[in-house]
Parts: sequence; C-alpha cells; structure tokens
Amino acid sequence: MSFDLARVRADFPLLTREVNGQPLAYLDSAASAQKPQVVIDAESQFYEHGYAAVHRGIHTLSAEATTEMENVRVQAARFLNAPSTEEIVFVKGTTEAINLVANSWGSSQLQPGDNIIITEMEHHANIVPWQMVAQRTGAEVRFIPLNADGELDLAKLPELIDSRSRLLAVTQVSNVLGTVNPVKALVAQAKAAGLVTLIDGAQAIMHGQVDVQDIGCDFYVFSGHKIYGPTGIGILYGRKALLDQMPPWEGGGSMIATVSLTEGTTYAAVPGRFEAGTPNTGAIIGLGAALKYVTDLGLDAIQQREQQLMHYAMDKLASVPDLVIYGPQERSGVIAFNLGKHHAYDVGSFLDQYGIAIRTGHHCAMPLMQHYGVPAMCRASFVLYNSEEEVDRLAAGLIRIHRLLGG
Ligand SMILES: *Cc1c(COP(=O)(O)O)cnc(C)c1O
Repeated sequence: MSFDLARVRADFPLLTREVNGQPLAYLDSAASAQKPQVVIDAESQFYEHGYAAVHRGIHTLSAEATTEMENVRVQAARFLNAPSTEEIVFVKGTTEAINLVANSWGSSQLQPGDNIIITEMEHHANIVPWQMVAQRTGAEVRFIPLNADGELDLAKLPELIDSRSRLLAVTQVSNVLGTVNPVKALVAQAKAAGLVTLIDGAQAIMHGQVDVQDIGCDFYVFSGHKIYGPTGIGILYGRKALLDQMPPWEGGGSMIATVSLTEGTTYAAVPGRFEAGTPNTGAIIGLGAALKYVTDLGLDAIQQREQQLMHYAMDKLASVPDLVIYGPQERSGVIAFNLGKHHAYDVGSFLDQYGIAIRTGHHCAMPLMQHYGVPAMCRASFVLYNSEEEVDRLAAGLIRIHRLLGG
C-alpha cells in the first residue's frame, strides 16, 4: 500500500495551525500525538447522540453505549492479536496499567528476597511502581544496563536472573533513545527461567504491528493518546490464566459480583474485576476510532514510511555542528540530542520561536540522563504525519541557534 503524506496530514486538523507566526512543525508526538478528525468526531458523536452510563442500564442509550464500549474491547483484542477479549482491561493509560500489575500481581506474589528485573532505559512509569511494590514486599529491583550504543547489554541478563527472579518488565521501544528492544528474545529467556513478563508498548504501539502471542509476554500495556486516540484511556493486555489469579486492585462499582455489609464482597470475573467505577466511555470510543484509523492506513505501511523519515532525519541532523545524538543509529520514532554545551531548555525555546515543537527535559527517564551524565536532552519525535520538510526546518533551526549562541 502506498502512503499519501498530504492526505494523512489533512486528517489532522491541528497540523494546519500556526505557532509564533510560523507553520507548526509538531515534533512532540512521543509525548502525545495529535488526533485525526475521525477520533474527534467519534468522541463528540458519542456525547451528542449516544451518551449514557454503561452497564446495568436497561434503557436503550445505556445498552447502546455498553455495546459500543465492548466492541472496542473486541477491536483492541484483534489489534494486539490477543486470544480473548477477556484479556483486555480498560485503564487510564500505560502508567495505570503498570501500577495495576505491580499492585495486584506484585503485592500478592512477591516475597522478601524476590527480585524484579527492569532496564536502565525505562520510563519512570516502568520503574517507580516496581520500586514501590518492592519496598512494601521486601523485594529488590535489578536492571539490565545499557551498552555504549544505547542498546541493552543482553549478556548481563543471565547474570541478573536467579532462583528468586519473578518478573521482567521492559519497554519495547525507548522513549528517549528510540532503541527497539528484542522483546521476543527477552521474553523467551525470561520465560525459560519461570519469570512473568510485562512489555511497555507505549512507544511501540503506533509504529508497527504488535502481536502479543508472537511476543509471548504475559502483560502488554499502552496508552491511547500516543496512538492518535484520546487521553485518559489505555489498554492492559494480560494473559487470562494470570489475570484470573490476580486479586482486585481498586474496589468499587462494576468490579463486584455481590456485596454484603456482613458477609463481605465477592468479585466479578476478569476483566470487570479490574475496572472499578464508571469508565471513560467517550475516550474508549475515541480509542476505537484511532485503532481503526491506523489499521486502515496499514501498520506495515506506517512503519515503512516512518523508517524512511527516520533515516532522512538521522542523515540530515548529522550535518548540524556540535550536535550530539544519543542512542543507536537504527531506531524508531525519536531522536534525542544536545546542541553543544547549551541547555536543552534554551534550544527548545529557540525552536519554539521558529514554530517547531520538541520536548526538552529528562523525558521521565532520569536514570538514562544519569547514564549519559546530562541533566536534560532535546527530543524530536517523528510519526506518520511528519514530513521531510519539517526535518529540514529542525536542522536549519539548530544550525541557526548554533550560529547565534556558538558551540
Ligand atoms: C509515555 C510513556 C509512558 C507513560 O504513559 P502515560 O500515558 O503517561 O501513562 C510509559 N512508558 C513509555 C515508554 C512512554 O513513552
């Protein structure tokens, strides 16, 4: 399938905006992606024509809303090639999904002296929940270090795994370095040693086809807003055999079977057991539209197009004097850099004056900043609606800043 960039860009109304008198170059999609009109329409249609609380409702609108929501669960299961819709839990996002697993699986399974293995390149969302549950249970958090190329030092994994290792949690794509981790091989190694596995897909889900059965992981998590869907919605895929054994995390409505003040409470089957309270139905419906949007474009076509743009960007940025790029040559979605000795915030502010939106700071990956010995980095991210022209503007902007500020 061929990829029509002009048509794709026209699907995203916000991209026509100007910023500081310049056409917007939005290079911050790794933080949050813009939304195509179909997603905006799906959500507003629901509020205009179909809105009602889901579940328990006997009236037509409630039944319709419930059906729409459950259709998205079916869609999400297909999108991830999950064997069953019962393995799809609606959550607020990646952060909540990992907290759910850490609190439910972690709190009930971890014993003093057990260990959890993560990596040096994780987002704080895949570090802090494990540290918190480790502190509560007396478990230990270990990490796979990086090699000089900004890839995981895979030779270290066998040294980290011992008889007390219980879980491996790793990101599929680094949100800072763009490193694509060999998750299938990592999961196979971890499973062979009896570990439970969780893949943080927040930075991978929008860049190519994901198949949880092929990866072989127990949990896979992602956020809707990074795949052109609304904020406040995400997906936890969990293997049913594991979810079935896990206690609830949050208590409330919708997650129960029976409640009695004297006899106590029995819980609903999965996935309902993990969906306490009124769900964000509008966002769920928007997420359904987003998954349909990328499926219709074709994830393979998206991946091909984005790889072409990434290669173009790596080549182009190589011409900027005093630019340090972090991470491997082959990568997905993001390029983190610093310009000479200048603080990332200064570079980001100048670029903003030129209408170019990038992210600056620690990117919720302070251990990675510590690894490179820098307080902050600039990060430009590239997705299906970005263009070669935007890359050219970024490179020209950086050259101009270098000329103004020196090296
Ligand atoms: C964005 C991101 C997260 C956190 O996602 P939220 O939507 O903020 O919950 C976690 N991991 C990675 C790799 C990310 O890029």
